[in-house]
Amino acid sequence: MDLTRTLDHILLLAGTSEARQLAKSIAQRFAAVKLTVSFAGVVKDLPDLGVPTRIGGFGGVDGLVSYLQEKSVDLIIDATHPFAAQMSRHAVDAAGQTDTHLIRLERPIWHEVDGDTWQHVASTTAAAEALPKKSRAFLSVGRKEIDKFTYRDDCFALVRMIEPPERPLPDHWHLVLERPSKSVDAERHLLKHHKITHLVTKNSGGASSYAKIEAARQLQVPLLMIKRPALPDADTASSTAEVLKFVEQFVDGCD
Ligand code: NAP
Repeated sequence: MDLTRTLDHILLLAGTSEARQLAKSIAQRFAAVKLTVSFAGVVKDLPDLGVPTRIGGFGGVDGLVSYLQEKSVDLIIDATHPFAAQMSRHAVDAAGQTDTHLIRLERPIWHEVDGDTWQHVASTTAAAEALPKKSRAFLSVGRKEIDKFTYRDDCFALVRMIEPPERPLPDHWHLVLERPSKSVDAERHLLKHHKITHLVTKNSGGASSYAKIEAARQLQVPLLMIKRPALPDADTASSTAEVLKFVEQFVDGCD
């Protein structure tokens, strides 16, 4: 990639813990570069990162193109959630139209290990169809996807999300408004307490929500693993360190 342009303004598309780490590291290490962190605005309680922040959609690809041009953005860092595919697609499209550099942080996916019983499904819709009749499911799929499951009211579901659902859940389901626990013991307790027979999760990757998978393995609870959506080609990094190296090379290339 040609990194001979100056690097004056980075747009960091956020929504993950890695994005928050990157915001802090970039602000510290590349203080001369303007950084704007962008959140979708789904989660109300946003962290104060001590850097300029914008909240809410850009208005599709055209809106993002206008933003990149008006704000003279030189580099987009896409550190959104692996299932926030629309934002990632828009970023590639808008970067192409405006000749803006882009790097996408892609967390490695989770892989099955000894003791896991996973059924891979292509989508949340497929996961809802695959749930056996009258099962007791732990639906760890997020607020935006839960509506795809609510017709399965033959099943009991434990539902965990950060913000409340937009529409009511079946009366006999149990809602927990919390972030995923990092404690395997706590996750095991939750699965046991609700007599869960199936865990449904997206293949988000990363450490912060892996405890439930370890708990399911220990209790031999089968898991429906939702595959990641396909994304267009782009430069990618698999860790925050790799992204920072990319930024460093960009800055060095500008000297
Ligand atoms: P999405 O479908 O990719 O994005 C929908 C729209 O939200 C985008 O087109 C964009 O609106 C806006 N948007 C998303 N991320 C943005 C950002 N960082 N800054 C500004 N605008 C942003 O993603 P989603 O609807 O948020 O979520 C899809 C899936 O990802 C869900 O399953 C969700 O659970 C998961 N997820 C998302 C996030 C997140 O922060 N987005 C975090 C955790 C999990 P415009 O088209 O108007 O620009």
